[in-house]
Amino acid sequence: MEINASRSAAASDDAIQIELDAMMEIFEEYQDKLPEGAYLRGMNALGSLHRHKRTTLAARRPGDILRCWQTLDEIMDENEDLYDEIMEVADDIMIELCGDDATIYTNHNENLVARGEEKELFEALVNYKPVEGNAGYETSPMVLHHALQLIMARLFDDTYHELEIVRPVSCQCGWRGSQGNWDRHITNMRHVRWVLSQRRMIDARESVVVRRESGIVYIKSLSPHLSGSEFDIATKEAIHAAEMAGDRVIFVCADGTMSWFA
Ligand SMILES: [Zn+2]
Repeated sequence: MEINASRSAAASDDAIQIELDAMMEIFEEYQDKLPEGAYLRGMNALGSLHRHKRTTLAARRPGDILRCWQTLDEIMDENEDLYDEIMEVADDIMIELCGDDATIYTNHNENLVARGEEKELFEALVNYKPVEGNAGYETSPMVLHHALQLIMARLFDDTYHELEIVRPVSCQCGWRGSQGNWDRHITNMRHVRWVLSQRRMIDARESVVVRRESGIVYIKSLSPHLSGSEFDIATKEAIHAAEMAGDRVIFVCADGTMSWFA
């Protein structure tokens, strides 16, 4: 349908132009034999016909084409032959722009073009123009549009994937690196030690406060050898929190005796 619409518009354009050219030739050939006024009127009429042809066909063409326009998704669902045609045009354009080894039929682990060549291809696609002899010339505007979009979509996916690999990420343990190194980082010894210390910190916070009652917080008395440990930090945090809340702190020793002092 869509292809027929654009082909019939193009065919009308050509047919009218042939007749106009024939008239023009006759006027030129018999210019000497015609009164000057007749020649000029004839040439003016031809000029008007040429403009009429352009405006009439231009008004007809977009409507004819747009009525039958389908999205790529619709074509994939409803018209496999047309989809194949789009892929073929995309493949031809790839070969035209990137050389004989290029193809749209690469598997998705493989980039469409070598790293660093994306921008050049992208610009060639943005400025692609169907001219006689090139891959986009013989096809319809809709097929050409989707073929170009298909290549651009692949280029975007490739670029996005590359970015994901090199995108800098940071870890709470203090490490900074690229996304591609993340899997290796989480098995790194420094990171593992950090994760373990985080867990000990959580355990220490849970165990340091023995109980709370009426404005008094009972905190486990710290053994000197625990100084500097997660337990030490958790104790200081608990004391600070109690002071901020206006609570009194009582230390409980391992044997159950209590003290105002640590
Ligand atoms: Zn880390």
